[in-house]
Amino acid sequence: MSVFDASPRTAVSGRVRELVRRIAVEAFGAAEAEVPIPGFTVFTDRRLDDPLAGIRAALLVHTVAESQLTEYARAARASGRSWDQIADALGITTDEVAVVGEAAFDWLVCGRAPDPEPDGVRSFRTPCAYWRCSTCDGLVTDHGPFEGNPANSEDGHAKGCTRHAAEVQAWNEGWEH
Ligand SMILES: [Zn+2]
Repeated sequence: MSVFDASPRTAVSGRVRELVRRIAVEAFGAAEAEVPIPGFTVFTDRRLDDPLAGIRAALLVHTVAESQLTEYARAARASGRSWDQIADALGITTDEVAVVGEAAFDWLVCGRAPDPEPDGVRSFRTPCAYWRCSTCDGLVTDHGPFEGNPANSEDGHAKGCTRHAAEVQAWNEGWEH
């Protein structure tokens, strides 16, 4: 997908991302910075100086959007639309569930979102997060905070990465005291 992609979905997704950034700035004290897009000289991307403000802003939008799902479902029922039609708008298909209307009601009224991997596919792979270390520029595979020691839960830092070394040292010292 290029920056020139102009499908309406892509365009509005971009506007929502913009809105989240603006909320992070206006409500959670972040500042925006222009960063170059790799491979482009003319185009820049905008980033927040504080990604945690981005999480707070995205959560706010998420919460508002979630309550709107319920509000619009009630409005749809009020105007004579069926739960099957609501399921269709939600993108629930019979590949996932036998009765789509029931799945829509389960989701929006009972608060049970459909399982994206109903056959337990998830258990066959270990989930992890990927990010580029701002200190060593290594692409890190992050297995989460479960194991504790960053030496075992983060793969991919460059050899001699000072940040990773400091985090491992802090963890080791935490054990000694
Ligand atoms: Zn690193």
